Amino acid sequence: MLDFLNRHVVQPIYAAKAGSRHLQYLRTLRRTQFDPPEIVRARQLAALQAILRHAFDTVPFYRAAWTAAGVHPNDVKDLADLRQFPIVTKTDLRTRAAEFHSEAYRGPYVTKRTSGSTGVPLTIRLDEPGKQWKYAGTLRGDEWSGWRLGQRVAKVWGNPEYRHFGLKGRLRNALLERAVHLDTVRLTDGRMREFVTAIRRHRPGLLFGHAHSLYLIADRLKKQGIDDVRPNGIVSTAMPLHDWQRKTIEEVFGTKATDRYGCEETSLIAGECEVHRGLHVNADSVHVEVESGESTGPLLVTDLCNRAMPLIRYRNGDHVTLTDRACSCSRGLPLIEKVEGRDADYVVTPTGSLISGISLTENFACLIEGTAQVQIVQEAVTHLRLRIVPSEAFGVDSRRQIARLVGDTFGPTMRHEIELVDAIPQEPGGKYRFCISKVAPAAARALR
Ligand SMILES: [Zn+2]
Repeated sequence: MLDFLNRHVVQPIYAAKAGSRHLQYLRTLRRTQFDPPEIVRARQLAALQAILRHAFDTVPFYRAAWTAAGVHPNDVKDLADLRQFPIVTKTDLRTRAAEFHSEAYRGPYVTKRTSGSTGVPLTIRLDEPGKQWKYAGTLRGDEWSGWRLGQRVAKVWGNPEYRHFGLKGRLRNALLERAVHLDTVRLTDGRMREFVTAIRRHRPGLLFGHAHSLYLIADRLKKQGIDDVRPNGIVSTAMPLHDWQRKTIEEVFGTKATDRYGCEETSLIAGECEVHRGLHVNADSVHVEVESGESTGPLLVTDLCNRAMPLIRYRNGDHVTLTDRACSCSRGLPLIEKVEGRDADYVVTPTGSLISGISLTENFACLIEGTAQVQIVQEAVTHLRLRIVPSEAFGVDSRRQIARLVGDTFGPTMRHEIELVDAIPQEPGGKYRFCISKVAPAAARALR
């Protein structure tokens, strides 16, 4: 009954009050997902041509780079023609951010500051219509998991957003999102117990979180013999979902886990449908390609709907395998067979809690002045090595901020050393690991 009211009354009222069109967009996206591949491609081409023209006419970076490369939006008659255009790197975005802002876009936008999956702090502008369109795309992806709009969501995530908005945020959460949260920044035994009690009481329609956190919860329930937590859907995101994790999660919750892939810079890139073979590209919002033109390699993503700060052929640091295979669900959206890159780890505190690498690197990269990139290596329970690629602004203050942040996060017994480096070494296969703990896997096992 509450789900029904939320879906048909509360959600539309909030959307109207906020002036957000995401529910209309969601209806459109539900309908068009079953269009045949050629229609989807035609729509992508039209969106691509429009964003290329907009970028060339109003964004200084692209006008200069494309002129220098001798390419023009009018040259693009097919999606493959995009291959002639230069690539945008994280360094471009970090050092020349202002040149990516559209001179013509005067509407509202949100600013997102992120360390991404490689520990490079970036600031992204996303225009309001683009934000609403992307939100609708994410809701559609949530529905592929079996969840329905209006049903409660349980989130396993660091730093829940609603807490930053005081009473208004809490009210919005209580009425609109009705989410139950487990904060993974401090994943203690006690917190996990409380969360399990909450999801048993609230019976969420969707369980949503980092792959490894979902696994830890599933494993805990399994050990306690609890088998009555039955969400309609489970969405796993932000890190690879390993088969052994998926197996435990699906066994304990009695439902399929839906793997999802995205990055902060463009939001949702692809997600599994109910068939769970490959991930459907969110083709209404992004166009993806592999840099080499082969099926496997570094991903280039083009945002089709952000006019405030267009991202065209952006190398986000992940590796993927694309496929031409058609999915048996009959959706016309193209498939990513597998996301190869991207890994997150956990760090263990001297008191035995686990802190997720994503949340941690985000904090270090965003809060410390003068860091171009950060890698955190935990050598021992009380010993951290911080590999930092410094920018010009790195100095005495940065070191002081680091000492304070380490103390606040891990307590007084954690030692740390700072290693200034020219670059963070890549793993074989081109992956970056922004957080490597030599002791957390054992601690995670002990927690079970
Ligand atoms: Zn499918």
